[in-house]
Amino acid sequence: MTPDRASLQARHRAVLPDWLALYYAEPIEITHGEGRHVWDADGKKYLDFFGGILTTMTAHALPEVTKAVSEQAGRIIHSSTLYLNRPMVELAERVAQLSGIPDARVFFTTSGTEANDTALLLATAYRRSNQILAMRNSYHGRSFSAVGITGNKNWSPTSLSPLQTLYVHGGVRGRGPYAGLSDAAFIDACVADLRDMLGQTRGGVAALIAEPVQGVGGFTAPPDGLYARFREVLQEHGILWITDEVQTGWGRTGDHFWGWQAHGQSGPPDILTFAKGIGNGMSIGGVVARADVMNSLDSQSISTFGGSPITMAAGNANLSYLLEHDLQGNARRVGGLLIERLRAIAAGTAAVREVRGRGLMIGVELVRPGTDEAAPDTAAAVLESCREQGLLIGKGGGHDTSVLRIAPPLTLTVAEAEEGAAILERALREVA
Ligand code: PMP
Repeated sequence: MTPDRASLQARHRAVLPDWLALYYAEPIEITHGEGRHVWDADGKKYLDFFGGILTTMTAHALPEVTKAVSEQAGRIIHSSTLYLNRPMVELAERVAQLSGIPDARVFFTTSGTEANDTALLLATAYRRSNQILAMRNSYHGRSFSAVGITGNKNWSPTSLSPLQTLYVHGGVRGRGPYAGLSDAAFIDACVADLRDMLGQTRGGVAALIAEPVQGVGGFTAPPDGLYARFREVLQEHGILWITDEVQTGWGRTGDHFWGWQAHGQSGPPDILTFAKGIGNGMSIGGVVARADVMNSLDSQSISTFGGSPITMAAGNANLSYLLEHDLQGNARRVGGLLIERLRAIAAGTAAVREVRGRGLMIGVELVRPGTDEAAPDTAAAVLESCREQGLLIGKGGGHDTSVLRIAPPLTLTVAEAEEGAAILERALREVA
């Protein structure tokens, strides 16, 4: 590490919280990017398979987004509210229409955490209840309330949130008490668990919140249709369904534009939250809800920066690019090839328990060879080796952080998928 970078790391440590996680023994300082690549301050080039935690959804330095942002910056950088805001109305109309929620209203925030916070505000106001159902191993953000509905212990510091959270089974398919069951039996067991819990709950429950594919939890998902079955039970009790699409939205999962659509048999969700990729790196979050739910607040509410013209300019340009270039289709095609390739690699190493995922949201779960035990040390070593070889990936998981997370920008080419897979193969071999 250069003396300058060592000094920056020391200053980081001295002034920022101890819990602000950094990857790598020698953290990287990224200075610029283009397409699916980024460069660090030493000029080293990396193929980016994590996109800044799924924020660079389309491509780094996408000219269409850069142009829209700089044009808006040249006109005015402003707050979002009090005056008519054309780019915000435009993006809201498009997101409302895409959401699948009838009579949808959209409220923009600046992050996923704040989007979920707003969803909780709406659901608790609408239902006059502070009881929330959340999934085990879930992640929904780091505010006072979002931590209170986050089941993943690695990311839920003690919070004295006034919400009463009940955690249900279903988000994790391959581990836990129902892991050995068939898909149909798994769903039946989770539905029975939910019914049992509701039967023991006094008073109304406001909502169930779930990520269709758990992100931070290690890219793990229930069988298709689970949330449709949950929904039927929820509707018997008037409980709202909130889908957290912060990682799964905008076509990343390939087969669907939203993750909830794999569970859509009983209709669209009541509330949908989004963030990350829509701004292609600009901070946009938001909530879509049925009008009666959105309008259940009994006073005015604003977000000074949520929906600010400059972020909306990025969102509109990025969304146009995404739709015009069928990046959902690209995620399905290139993601499908990448999953196949990674499964072939996994077959040759006992360190991989499972390769799973949909589209360009792929998890590689590592274990101690010959056992079912999580291998967080192996995951950390693979990350380091990939970095050495010029590939950035992420990691995550439940009790232990032993799942490699692969979520490149959705413009990934077949050649880049091959290149990344080859690096990962070498890293796995080297570490094993
Ligand atoms: N929900 C999910 C599913 C997430 O993955 C995240 C971020 N990792 C959040 C919410 C919180 O988003 P943000 O970090 O933008 O607040």
